Amino acid sequence: MQAQAFFGRHFIILALSLTPIFLFIVGFDLWVLNSRPELLSDGSALTDSSPVLAPGTLSVLVIGAIFALFALFSARWVWRVQRQTATQLCLQRNIFEHTAEAMLVTNGARQIVAVNPAFEQITGYCATDVLGCSPDMLSPGGDQQGSYIDAWAGVAERGAWQGEIWARRKDGEIYPTLIRLRSVCESEQHPPSHFVAMFSDISAQKAQETRIDYLAHHDPLTALPNRQALGVFLASQIAAAGASVGQTLALLIIDLDNFKTVNDSLGHHAGDQLLRQMAARLQLHLGPSAQLFRLGGDEFAIVQAHPAPAEAVVALAQEIFRAVGEPCEINTRQLHISPSLGISLYPADGDTAEMLIRNADTALYFAKANGRNNYQFFTEPMSAAANKRLSTESELWQALANDQLLLHYQPQINLVSGEVVGVEALVRWQHPQHGLIFPTDFIPVAEACSLILPLGNWVLLAACRQAKAWLDAGLDLGEIAVNISALQFCQPDFAMTVQRILLETGLPPERLELEITESTVMQSADSSVKVLAELKKMGIKLAIDDFGTGYSSLTYLRRFSVDRLKIDRSFVADLESDVDAASLVASIVSMGHTLGLELVAEGVENAVQADFLRDRHCQRVQGFHFSRPVSAEAVVGLSHIFRRSSQLV
Ligand code: C2E
Ligand code: MG
Ligand code: MG
Repeated sequence: MQAQAFFGRHFIILALSLTPIFLFIVGFDLWVLNSRPELLSDGSALTDSSPVLAPGTLSVLVIGAIFALFALFSARWVWRVQRQTATQLCLQRNIFEHTAEAMLVTNGARQIVAVNPAFEQITGYCATDVLGCSPDMLSPGGDQQGSYIDAWAGVAERGAWQGEIWARRKDGEIYPTLIRLRSVCESEQHPPSHFVAMFSDISAQKAQETRIDYLAHHDPLTALPNRQALGVFLASQIAAAGASVGQTLALLIIDLDNFKTVNDSLGHHAGDQLLRQMAARLQLHLGPSAQLFRLGGDEFAIVQAHPAPAEAVVALAQEIFRAVGEPCEINTRQLHISPSLGISLYPADGDTAEMLIRNADTALYFAKANGRNNYQFFTEPMSAAANKRLSTESELWQALANDQLLLHYQPQINLVSGEVVGVEALVRWQHPQHGLIFPTDFIPVAEACSLILPLGNWVLLAACRQAKAWLDAGLDLGEIAVNISALQFCQPDFAMTVQRILLETGLPPERLELEITESTVMQSADSSVKVLAELKKMGIKLAIDDFGTGYSSLTYLRRFSVDRLKIDRSFVADLESDVDAASLVASIVSMGHTLGLELVAEGVENAVQADFLRDRHCQRVQGFHFSRPVSAEAVVGLSHIFRRSSQLV
C-alpha cells in the first residue's frame, strides 16, 4: 500500500511537470508556424522578413512559461515534502526497530498488529507468535490479571496509563515491567484506532532496590537485621499482638561489657571477630519465636514473642548470660565477655516500638550503672530518673553557653612545711533556680553525652588562665590540678588541645597537673602509655586520681610515667576505724616511695588522719581539715594564712 501511494504521488508530480512543458512546446510550435515568412506568388519571400505572430500565440507562450515555472516549483516543493516525510518515516521506523524498550501496537480491537525487536528480545516471543493476539497473553494470570484490567480501564478513560505490572516470558519466567500505554484516535469523536504500549524489563532495577533495602535494614558485619529493621519488626509485632487479646512481647537490649577494651587492646579486626562470634552464639541459643538484631557497636536486641509467664523472659536472659559468658578465642587469646541487659515488655512498658526501645535502653543504662553483668526490667522510677537526666543534660548545655559554670579551688598542703603547694580546680554549677550544684550531680550526666568535651575544655582553659593570673600577680600556689574525664583523655587530639590551651594562656607546662583516674588509664592501657608520655614530654605533671579504687598493676604504674598518686578519700576516711584501710594506706605510701612517686592523700578531715599520714611520710594532703574548695580569691587568702602559720611554728 505504501508503495502504491509512493508511485501515485510521483505520477502526479510527473504529470504536473510535463503538462506545462507540453503546453510550452505546443505554444512554441505555433509561434514558429505563425512566424514563417509568407511566400509571394513567384515563390519569393516578402521583403519584410520579421516574424508575424498569430493572435493568441504569445499569450499561450507566456501562460505556458508561467505554468512551466509554477509546475517546476510545485514539483520541487512536493518533492521536498515527500523527502521530509520519507525521512520522518525512516526515523520512526528506526526508533521502533532499535529502541531498547519493547513496543507493541494493537488495532482498535486490541489485536497486536506490530511489535519491535526489543519486544521479541524481552518477551521471548517473535512477531509471528503474537500478531493478531491480545496483549493480555503476556499476563502471568492469577492476581496480576487485575493489573491488566486496570491498565485497559485507565487507557480507555484517560487515553493513557502508566504503571508497573508483572508479565510472563515465553519460557514462563515472570518479571516486572514498567509500562506506558496510549490510545491513538483519528479525532476526538472517533474511538481509538490503535493502542501503543511501551515497556521495559525492570528486574535489574528491582533487584537493585531489593539490595538497597537489604543493606538499609541489615548490618553488614553480622548479616543480622539492624536498628531500623527492629523498629519495623516491633511495630508489626505490636500490631499483630494488639489484634488478639492477652498477647505479650519482650524486648531485650544487650550490651557487651568492656567491648571497647577488646577493640582498643586487640584491634578492630579482633573486635569484629568477637561480634560475629557473639551474633552466631546468640542466634544459636534463640528459639523460633525470638528474633535477633544488631543495633550497632556492641549492642544487640532480641524480640521474644509470647514470653508469658515473666519467668520465660528471665530464663531467656539467663540463656543469654550463658551464651555470651562462654570464653571465646580471638587471635589465639581467650576472652571472657559478660553482657548487660535492659528489658521492656509489651504492653506493660509501652505500646509503640519507640517506647519499648526507649524503655529497654533506660533499663540497660541502669544495668550498666549497677555494675554491669546483670539484667534490669524497666520500671517507672527508671523513666523518671532518665527524664531528670535528660533535662539536666539540656540545662547543662545552656549553663555552658550562659557562663553558669565556675571553678572552686581546694588547697593541697605540704604536711612538713604547712604551706600551700598546689590547688585542685573543682567545677561548680551556679544554677539560676537550684543554687550551687556540685560536680557529682552533673559530671556523670555530661560524661554520658559528649558535653564533657566542651565542659572539660572550658575547665582546663579557665584553670590555666587563673593559674597564670596568680603567677603574674607574684603569687605562688604551686601546680594547679585539673580533673580529666575518660572521654576527654581518649580524644586523639587531647595532648594537642592541652598544648594549645597552655600556649593561649601562657601558663608554664610544669605549673599544670592533670588528674586522671586509675580506671581511665587502665581502660586502654597501651594507648594511655603513649598519651601520658607525650604529655610528660611537654613538661606537664601527671597524677593518678582516686588511687586504690581501680586495678592498676605495678608494671603499668612504672610505664605510665606519672608523678603522683592521689590516695582515694574512702581509705583515708576509714583510717582510724579500719585496720585494713590503715595498712592499705601505709602500703600505698611505701609502694609509691619505692616507685619514686609523690603521694597525695585526699579527704583528710581531722588531725588524727593528718598525723597518721605525716608519720608514714605522706607529704601532701588535701581535705576539709585544712580547707574546703573555695573561690579563687579565698584560696589566695588561705595560702597567706598557711604561710604565716607555718612560719610561726
Ligand atoms: P575528686 O577529683 O576526687 O575531687 C575531690 C573531691 O573530694 C571534691 O568533691 C572535694 O570537695 C571532695 N573533698 C575534698 N576534701 C574532702 C574531705 O575532707 N571530705 C570529703 N567528704 N570530701 C572532700 P567535689 O568538688 O564534689 O568533686 C567531686 C568529683 O567530681 C571530683 O572528685 C572529680 O572526680 C569530679 N570533678 C570535679 N571537678 C571536675 C572537673 O572539672 N572535671 C571533671 N572531669 N571532673 C571533675
Ligand atoms: Mg581530683
Ligand atoms: Mg579524687
